[in-house]
Amino acid sequence: MTEIRKIKQLWTSRSTMEGAGVRLKRAFGYHEVPRLDPFLLLDDFHSDDPRDYLAGFPWHPHRGIETITYVLHGEVKHEDSLGNGGVISSGDVQWMTAGSGIIHQEMPQRTNRLLWGFQLWANLPAAQKMMTPRYQGITQQEIPTVQSNSAIQVKVICGEFEGTQGPVQDIITDPEYLDVIIAPSAEFSHSIKRGHNVFAYVIEGQGRFAPDHTQLLGAEHLVLFGDGEEIMIATEKQPVRFLLISGQPIGEPVAWYGPIVMNTEKELNIAFDEYRKGTFIKQ
Ligand code: MN
Repeated sequence: MTEIRKIKQLWTSRSTMEGAGVRLKRAFGYHEVPRLDPFLLLDDFHSDDPRDYLAGFPWHPHRGIETITYVLHGEVKHEDSLGNGGVISSGDVQWMTAGSGIIHQEMPQRTNRLLWGFQLWANLPAAQKMMTPRYQGITQQEIPTVQSNSAIQVKVICGEFEGTQGPVQDIITDPEYLDVIIAPSAEFSHSIKRGHNVFAYVIEGQGRFAPDHTQLLGAEHLVLFGDGEEIMIATEKQPVRFLLISGQPIGEPVAWYGPIVMNTEKELNIAFDEYRKGTFIKQ
């Protein structure tokens, strides 16, 4: 019999300040490590007041991780030390592998009043922490939407849903990143490799995230699932939209300071030392 994953832990995102003064909600971060391994952090930036986000995230380094930015509404302008630059617009995704090091800035624009998006950090295993940095910019048009019967709509950013592959490929921790909408009075099930960690983050509406869990969960809830083969999510009177993200745990020590995540304190010290000396960028 298929083992349905149960809810292991449940909480809501909390307000915090980041970058040069961006007000955002953090669904999980430093204090949750290693519960969501290989994922380190998920930020939900959502405001229709430009004063909450215009300060942005000016030039800063990253090493040892991948950052995945998904914009639902608004625009985020970016530039980096690889020479990339552009705008992440509504529906677009930027999957950035910092590897050995990248220096970039991410600046929300005033174009639309409403800014709404997510940034996820995925860890890299020791063997890949110093890999050559790379970057995949994916536009809304490149992200397939799978309509499964009349009740379920899934945007496949990374991974696979009902035979449709997402455009983000060849990522180290074998992640799956889906944006799922379930209509009212419907049920969604999806299999996830046993042993992979999986969580859902509710964007809007309400849903029941496991068959044995009667409570309806709404926006800004983070649902961490226990192990099993499949997740099963159902709606009642309201629809629900959520991110469903899974990946293969790395199981290594985490040494994390600010935007750099390595395995040891020594590697962190080297990274910050190199940043001060101007030798941080390797490729
Ligand atoms: Mn960054």
